[in-house]
Amino acid sequence: MSILENITSKDAIALEEKHGAHNYHPLPVVLSKGEGVFVWDVEGQKYYDFLSAYSAVNQGHCHPKIVNAMIVQAKTLSLTSRAFYNDMLGKYEKYATETFHFDKLLPMNTGAEAVETALKICRKWAYEKKGIEENEAEIVVCENNFHGRTTTIISFSNDPVARKNFGPYTDGFIKIEYDNLKALEEVLKSNKNVAGFLVEPIQGEAGVYVPSNGYLSGAKALCEKYNVLFIADEVQTGIARTGRLLATCGNCSCSDKHCSGTPEIKPDILILGKALSGGAYPVSAVLADNDIMGVIRPGNHGSTFGGNPIAAAVGMAALEVVKDEKLAENAFVLGELFREELNKFIPHTDLVNSVRGKGLLNAILINDTEESSTAWDICMALKENGLLAKPTHGNIIRFAPPLVMTKEQLLDCVSIIIKTLKEFKK
Ligand SMILES: *Cc1c(COP(=O)(O)O)cnc(C)c1O
Repeated sequence: MSILENITSKDAIALEEKHGAHNYHPLPVVLSKGEGVFVWDVEGQKYYDFLSAYSAVNQGHCHPKIVNAMIVQAKTLSLTSRAFYNDMLGKYEKYATETFHFDKLLPMNTGAEAVETALKICRKWAYEKKGIEENEAEIVVCENNFHGRTTTIISFSNDPVARKNFGPYTDGFIKIEYDNLKALEEVLKSNKNVAGFLVEPIQGEAGVYVPSNGYLSGAKALCEKYNVLFIADEVQTGIARTGRLLATCGNCSCSDKHCSGTPEIKPDILILGKALSGGAYPVSAVLADNDIMGVIRPGNHGSTFGGNPIAAAVGMAALEVVKDEKLAENAFVLGELFREELNKFIPHTDLVNSVRGKGLLNAILINDTEESSTAWDICMALKENGLLAKPTHGNIIRFAPPLVMTKEQLLDCVSIIIKTLKEFKK
C-alpha cells in the first residue's frame, strides 16, 4: 500500500551496496520521509536530524513554502539554459544581492562549483585588475580546509583520503595554518603574486574548528593591505547556521539583533550553497561587487542548470523563510543553550572533553584518538535513541540540527545526547 512498506532498511542498504559506488560510508539508517526537524526511516522509526544534510536543511525538511515555490515553478518553466533570459532569475538575483549587500550574483548549482567559480573570478581579477603576470597568480588556502571534491579543490586539500591517486594536481595554491594571522601576513608580505585568500569562517568538516576572536577581521584587514581578495566559503556556515545570516556578518540585512555591533567583515567574494535552497534543490552562488564580478564576460564561465527558474524560485523562498522565521536569531539563542547544557554535563563524564561551536553549528570532542571508532559508536547509540548525527573524525561528532527547532525540542535532544553518553560503554 504505502511506499514505506515496499522495502526494508536491510534491502535498501543491500541495493546500494551492490549497485552503487562505495564513495560514502553512511550510518545504517534508511530514511524515507522528513518534516521540519524530524526524519523517519522505512520502518517508521522517527529521529531528530542532527546533521541537516551538512547544514543544507537549515529551514527544516520539506518546508511547505519552499516546496510550494518549487512545485509551482516546476509546473510552469523548469529550464531554459542561459541561452535565453527567464523571468525568475533577475528577481532572485535582486533579492539575494540586496539580502547580502553585493552588486552581483553568479548562479551555480553545487558548493564545489561555486568554489571553482570564485577561484576563477579571483584569478581573472588578478591578471586584469591587480596586474599579476599571466599564469603566476597564487591563492592562499588553509590547512585542513574543506571546499568540495573537484580536481582543483582536492589539489589544495591535505586530506590523504580525498587526494591520494587523483593527481596530477592543479598548481597555484599556497597552504598556511588556519587561525594564524602571522602565517597569513608572512605569505602576503613575501609573495607579490598572491591574488586571494580562501577561507571557511568556521572549519566545518575539520571538526567545527572556530577560529580565535578577531581572526576573520584581522585576515580581512591584511587582505586589504596587500590588495588580495578575501574569499569566504560560507557554504556550510552561511544562511543563519552560526546564529547570524552569515558567519562573516556585520553587513547583512537580517533581523537578528545580535548582528549589529559585530565587526563588519564584508568578503570580496562570498560563496554560498547548501541552505541557499533549504535542501530542496542544488542551488549555489558567488557574490561580489562590480569591480570584481565585472571581469566575467559572456562565454567566460557558465552552467546549463545554473540560475534555472526552479533554482531561482527555490532560492528566493528559502531566503524568505530564513528572514520570516528569524532563523539566525533562533540559531543564536538555541546554540547558547545547547553549549550551556552540555557544559553542565561534561565535568561529570570521562567520555567528552569539550563542546564548541557557534549558533547551531557545534561539535563535541570525544576523549579518544582520531583513529578510534568511538565517535562512530556513539552515533550508532544516538541513532538507537532517536537522534541522527555523524562523526567528522574518529573523535569528533558534529551537531547541526535544522534551525526551525524549538527550545523544547532542543532540550529533548540534549537529554537524548546526555542519556546516550551516560549509558555508553566502549
Ligand atoms: C559542503 C561544502 C562544500 C561543497 O559543497 P557541495 O555542494 O558538496 O559541492 C564547499 N565548501 C564547504 C565549506 C562545504 O561545507
